Amino acid sequence: MGEPSKAVLITGCSSGIGRAIAERLASGGHRVYATARRPESIADLKEKGCEMLPLDVLDDESMRAAVAHVEEAEGAVGVLVNNAGYGQSGAIEAVPIDAVRRNFETNVFGYLRMAQLVLPGMRRQGWGRIVNMSSVAGRVTMPGSGPYSATKFAIEALSDALRFEVKGFGVRVSIVEPGPIRTHFTATANAGIPDADGAYTDYHAAVARADAEADQSKLLAGDPEDVAKTVEQAITARNPRTRYRVTVPARLLPTMRRVLSDRAFDAFLRTQAPPPGAR
Ligand code: NAP
Repeated sequence: MGEPSKAVLITGCSSGIGRAIAERLASGGHRVYATARRPESIADLKEKGCEMLPLDVLDDESMRAAVAHVEEAEGAVGVLVNNAGYGQSGAIEAVPIDAVRRNFETNVFGYLRMAQLVLPGMRRQGWGRIVNMSSVAGRVTMPGSGPYSATKFAIEALSDALRFEVKGFGVRVSIVEPGPIRTHFTATANAGIPDADGAYTDYHAAVARADAEADQSKLLAGDPEDVAKTVEQAITARNPRTRYRVTVPARLLPTMRRVLSDRAFDAFLRTQAPPPGAR
């Protein structure tokens, strides 16, 4: 057999982290298939050296077609970067159940299905890399981020299972856990916070404010390029790490969560957003 395909397929390249990964990898000489559910949103990536494909992770046919296209052209998807996702914020009682289902469909089932589709090709060629964009929210649940955090905790579990199951086929799985990164993410999450009929109004306002403030912080937040650099490390390392953390909160919060008791950690959370209710 010849050299394995190292072609990279990235989901969610219209903006933010996915776009930065596509640009960085293409400029570094990687063969990049940038994808988005709105193809017009990535038209300019052609000039930057990317191939472009439509891909909506809520649409099985579009996922199949994108993978089939790369396999036809390259033999296999060599590297999958599962990135497309968004945050459904809001108090558990207040968030519409269909909104939570949709967040899981996108963030969890989208990642899982893409892995299922690329793995036969990776196994055939005995080489592959899968990078799953998780979050510090996959390790620690911050105020108002229950539904989103649940999706990212699920991604951590799926990735742990997958890493164990596919290593023997030459496929390596890494998880990237960014903290706050300045993208459209917070605006989308804040726009999706449900109306709360009084009981959670102040809580939701505090959550939206805290998340927006974190993005502004020079100390706490990073840029999409920081994540792109990390993804490049993960896919080019001979022996990639299991987890990569980007930004100070992504390194600090999981450690705090581990060493503090549940009660002590809740006391810390109260400093981030006053909890709803009087008691
Ligand atoms: P972003 O700028 O809002 O980008 C999200 C991307 O996901 C967009 O390209 C969006 O496409 C795409 N997407 C959403 N639903 C999709 C679907 N059904 N099919 C295909 N693409 C879809 O936010 P971002 O920060 O770059 O987020 C990228 C990833 O990083 C997400 O998984 C997020 O959870 C993770 N992350 C972000 C942060 C942060 O603070 N920014 C921190 C940790 C982890 P449209 O433009 O069409 O909506």
